[in-house]
Amino acid sequence: MSTIFGKIIRGEVPCKKEFESETVLAFHDIVPQAPIHILIIPKKEIPDLQSVEPGDYPLIGEMVKAAQHIAKKLGVEKAYRLVTNTGSKAGQGVFHLHFHLLAGRELSNALG
Ligand code: 5GP
Repeated sequence: MSTIFGKIIRGEVPCKKEFESETVLAFHDIVPQAPIHILIIPKKEIPDLQSVEPGDYPLIGEMVKAAQHIAKKLGVEKAYRLVTNTGSKAGQGVFHLHFHLLAGRELSNALG
């Protein structure tokens, strides 16, 4: 089932784009939780990390590569956090796989 991120991929909902490749899109979170808060998503509609299949592993690698590229481009490659929430009880609100890239302020080591 398509989500708001599906609409962003199809250009039906605008976003502030930071990076795009054939398989991956990255854009600024609409409710940033840090000065830099980018969402990195696969264009393929995968609901969450637990739904990733072995055939998707190269795509996950592309998402990691995008994170490295964006961190470098924004000058935060020495200090950023990459997070994915899996399931509503872990804070997932949009059921299209995404990594949050957070940076630009001191990030506490408290993850929970
Ligand atoms: P989750 O809670 O699923 O891990 O993260 C979903 C994220 O998507 C949230 O941080 C939320 O602010 C962001 N988000 C939800 N709807 C939109 C939207 O329409 N545009 C953008 N850019 N971000 C969105």
